[in-house]
Amino acid sequence: MSEILREVLETPVAGSYDVLVAGGGPAGVAAAVCAARLGAKTCLVEQTGVVGGVATSGLMSHWTGNTRGGIYEEILERSKDSDDPALRQTINPDRLQDCLLSMLAEAGAELRLYTFVSAPLMEDGRVAGVVCESKSGRQALRAKVVVDASGDGDVAARAGAAFELGRAGDHAMQPMTLMFKLGGVDTDRAIFPQAFEHRIEVPAGEIQALGKAELPSPAGHVLLYRSTLPGVVTVNMTNLTHVDGTKAEDLTKAQIACHGQIGPIVDFLRRRAPGYEKCFVISSAAQIGVRETRHFKGVSTITEEDILAARVFPDWVVTKAHFNFDIHNVEGAGLDAHGSQATFTQRKGYTIPYGCLVPETLDGLLLAGRSISGTHKACSNFRAMPICANVGQAAGVAAALAARAGVQPRAVPVADIQAELRRQGVEP
Ligand SMILES: Cc1cc2nc3c(=O)[nH]c(=O)nc-3n(C[C@H](O)[C@H](O)[C@H](O)COP(=O)(O)OP(=O)(O)OC[C@H]3O[C@@H](n4cnc5c(N)ncnc54)[C@H](O)[C@@H]3O)c2cc1C
Repeated sequence: MSEILREVLETPVAGSYDVLVAGGGPAGVAAAVCAARLGAKTCLVEQTGVVGGVATSGLMSHWTGNTRGGIYEEILERSKDSDDPALRQTINPDRLQDCLLSMLAEAGAELRLYTFVSAPLMEDGRVAGVVCESKSGRQALRAKVVVDASGDGDVAARAGAAFELGRAGDHAMQPMTLMFKLGGVDTDRAIFPQAFEHRIEVPAGEIQALGKAELPSPAGHVLLYRSTLPGVVTVNMTNLTHVDGTKAEDLTKAQIACHGQIGPIVDFLRRRAPGYEKCFVISSAAQIGVRETRHFKGVSTITEEDILAARVFPDWVVTKAHFNFDIHNVEGAGLDAHGSQATFTQRKGYTIPYGCLVPETLDGLLLAGRSISGTHKACSNFRAMPICANVGQAAGVAAALAARAGVQPRAVPVADIQAELRRQGVEP
């Protein structure tokens, strides 16, 4: 940076809350709903005009993996767009957005859209709220507890919480993808390769091999998902590696590169994929999809070994979490050498301990969603949206109990959080 300006800023305090949630993705909405349901005066702040995060403005195809007993099941039931059991976890982004907005309103959570959380409000070395920027100007919002559900942990990072970017050692991060939707697909004849290891023979050869040979690198895999709408298919095929989702410059680069891949992908599908001969683009995501950035250091850290052992932690706050190690290749197309989809065998489901949501030393703050304390490989599993939603539920409950008791989140007895989660249907 060549020049640094020193500014004196006057920041009006525009509100005061028990619980403030930064970021309205699956984790943030769940946290805000659950805190507000417990009577906490709650505000959810989201930078876009849409709640749901990657699930909605990221134009996501479906909820992958699973959990049982938590808020995810309620969201799924209320937002489902088809009675076909095969499409139970398929997302209609507009329907999901309606559902999440209704849940927030019913719970009594305040919502501030189009508002970017730019910094933590620090008092006596702890987080005491946030500073935001919006059309209304620069404003501060006070809170007894802030839940950072921004995906990247923007508040936690600015407040000085310890984190590691990406994979330990080389800080490699999973690639970014701009999702898009096609119309005009003959879905009776269409192929739907839904995993990297899903190989399908088409007249010109095997579809993943054709993709690798013919798509513009680092795109190259073929991932296509049915939607609930006639002739409409969700495409997860654009790909950009070596980009950092905590940098606006890289987000811009990824948006431009991935958007530029859409044309060649459509051309490839029209030529090679049965059923796609007359397909056309109907929409691309409003937000580039970022799979991985900061992993914060918590009181506890969940690892791949914990997941493989289906470990039940005594301080569980998320239970029956199930998914595979979905690590996209950090160097190109397809699955990373450390990932496993078809070969993942642990079926029991694992738990996540409360300590993963509590920053190691920083007070006034809880983490929720994909940035909780976990290794690169563990994160490739718990980043699935059903699990992130239930992490948000746990964070919202813990934040509300901390605010009610006037204590720091780390001082809330885990037995109290578990008792409330049990009342809400979460069992180990
Ligand atoms: C391309 C792609 C495909 C995926 N496929 C699947 C799939 O098929 N199924 C599945 O279950 N999971 C999938 N995932 C994983 C999953 O979508 C994410 O891991 C999950 O959405 C994370 O939830 P979250 O709430 O932590 O964050 P996000 O969903 O990223 O939500 C974060 C929210 O915070 C907002 N925000 C960020 N910073 C700020 C700020 N400073 N101030 C205010 N607001 C802010 C964002 O706008 C966003 O709304 C995929 C992810 C990607 C990127």
